[in-house]
Amino acid sequence: EKPFNCNFCDKQFRQLSTLSNHKKIHTGEKPFECSVCGKQFRQSSTLNSHIRIHSDDKFCIKPFKCSICPKEFRQTTTLANHIKIHTGKPSQTEPRSMVALNGGLNLKDEDVKPFFAMM
Ligand SMILES: [Zn+2]
Ligand SMILES: [Zn+2]
Ligand SMILES: [Zn+2]
Repeated sequence: EKPFNCNFCDKQFRQLSTLSNHKKIHTGEKPFECSVCGKQFRQSSTLNSHIRIHSDDKFCIKPFKCSICPKEFRQTTTLANHIKIHTGKPSQTEPRSMVALNGGLNLKDEDVKPFFAMM
């Protein structure tokens, strides 16, 4: 049971500490929280456009985001595989339609390296 109610957005929590932590998003600069991944946004319109990222897989948390397109992934290996689409190298794990969809970007290796350096 979740006896603790947020008086800002009507979310319910099992623990008071979780509720207190949650309330900070309403009092801070970014009051709109993504219900899927917990990311916070200043404007509801930004949140709404962000939510579409999750539309294909609503209940999966994907902390690894592609730096080139808005796709998100659960594992760095999956992301690394995905990145190959943008570099023009065919990937075995992605369907051909995805290659066609993003093929126009034609990014060079130099554009991708700084991203890998961050990981
Ligand atoms: Zn709330
Ligand atoms: Zn999200
Ligand atoms: Zn991408």
